Amino acid sequence: MRSVCTFLFLLYLLTIPAWGQVETPRDPAEICGTPAISEQDRQTYLSAYQQFSQRQQVTARRQATQIAIKVHNVLTAQGVGDASPYLEQVFAVLNAKFAPMGISFFQLGEVNFIRNDNFYNLAMSRDHELTSAHSVQNAINLYFVGSADGSNGYAYPPNLDSTRNTRSWNALFISTNLNVSTTQIINEVIPHEMGHYFGLLHTHEHGSSGNLDPATREYVTRGAGANCTYAGDQICDTPADPYLLLITSDRQLAQSSCSSGFMSTMDPQREVYRPDVTNLMSYYRGCRTSLTPQQYDRMKWGLSLRNQVNPDPSDRYYIDGQVRLLHQPVATRYCAGAAMEVALWQYGQLQSGSQLRLRLTRADGSSPVELPATSVEGSRLRVTLPNRLASGSYKVQVIATNSAVASAATSLVIVGKPTITVQQTGGKLMLQSSSTGTNQWYLNGVALKDSVRQQLYPTEAGTYTVQATEAGCTQASEPFVITSTEPTDKPSVVLYPNPNRGSFWVELPSHSGPWQADVFSMNGQPISQTRSIPEVPGRRSVAVKAPPGTYLLRITAGGKSTQVKFVVE
Ligand SMILES: [Zn+2]
Repeated sequence: MRSVCTFLFLLYLLTIPAWGQVETPRDPAEICGTPAISEQDRQTYLSAYQQFSQRQQVTARRQATQIAIKVHNVLTAQGVGDASPYLEQVFAVLNAKFAPMGISFFQLGEVNFIRNDNFYNLAMSRDHELTSAHSVQNAINLYFVGSADGSNGYAYPPNLDSTRNTRSWNALFISTNLNVSTTQIINEVIPHEMGHYFGLLHTHEHGSSGNLDPATREYVTRGAGANCTYAGDQICDTPADPYLLLITSDRQLAQSSCSSGFMSTMDPQREVYRPDVTNLMSYYRGCRTSLTPQQYDRMKWGLSLRNQVNPDPSDRYYIDGQVRLLHQPVATRYCAGAAMEVALWQYGQLQSGSQLRLRLTRADGSSPVELPATSVEGSRLRVTLPNRLASGSYKVQVIATNSAVASAATSLVIVGKPTITVQQTGGKLMLQSSSTGTNQWYLNGVALKDSVRQQLYPTEAGTYTVQATEAGCTQASEPFVITSTEPTDKPSVVLYPNPNRGSFWVELPSHSGPWQADVFSMNGQPISQTRSIPEVPGRRSVAVKAPPGTYLLRITAGGKSTQVKFVVE
């Protein structure tokens, strides 16, 4: 299955230009500007549609799908061309006519009025200038213009190739000022172009007088000998339609009578055509009201093609009206405290006043922080990572305040500052850096020679720090104070950070059993006392409420005491 799809995909790539350019001459009636299908595309589309139909038969029927339409109304500089008075009817008719395919339409936001004489008389070759400036990426873009390239309207068909399913193909164009009554615009032209938008062909396609190849002309006959799955509009419950083969007076008679019973034109097998003049995808103006069950089935396929996600986020669009954020990390590893950027795409407008932020959590979702973000270079967001983030795996999302919109989380690794822990092994103190990168130890701010391992056996008391270089991040630890490196009968005490803001860690690496901590001012006034602290592995936090200054911590353990100086900033 996969290889067949790939083959069709490649085949389609080869034939793409035929969709973008009108290969056949413009229909003389100038009714619709939607390009005709090329011969190569005809076979490709048939095969792809048949595959889709087989899959549909084994999947459950879907719920009704809500589809958003963004209305853009191009006016002249003087304000001519306002379609807003009849928009309510437009939506009522669309909803009535398209309900059988399981969809309903709603208008997204207000009408976007565009006063521009050039776009009012829109040339198809320049419509991308209009769409790139105005189209939204979370709804179908319905443009009302004075003249849609001289036709009543046109739409781009859905594309088999997701890389071609770009935002510029997500539009239909309707003329407001080409001698067509508003009633016809509402009841015929817009539903007709919406049919094209979801992949319907004209009922008379390949009925052009220049095409005499019987293999590609739709026969009147059905059942044995029929070619209706391939030829014409590739739909068998719409009768073969000779519209462009008819002489002008027959066209006029068909339209004035809304009947084809009088026609005598014959198909290649010499059967008389009896087209359905009420079909919305025909050209019988004033008679068109309906679509057939197979046309609805074909449009479900068209909808599935519309829902293909373009691999390029900037060309991607959705038609459900939902607002989406998408981000991609610029890098996957950052240093704590450094600037970080993500590429950002937004589909749809956020509520006014909504701001973008970056939400960072540990990989398990804990410890969330929200960081204010600034936009840079148009589509990037920049934040500064907090200095104190611990090393490890994190998840990041872009969130919009007030809008409950968030991008899917991506993963990143943050390299935090190294931390120092202390152990006593074999009667000796050992300091250990948390970093497995390159470490450099310092004593009282001076680099210790040859001390580049993860562990250090301190030989004297003092303030130790370690600087680690890991994954491109060079960062220093908090200072770590050691009062004594000799195991004595006095408890050896580790206090860090020092200086601090009145809150610090205390470790007694050489002591087991309960202990007590008392804090004094330098002139001996007691500041705080902690009663017996039970033996616990690792460190204990101690907090004192004291103004900035130098203080003494006295630790009493096993009947012995020792004192450490520390500074509150
Ligand atoms: Zn058309």
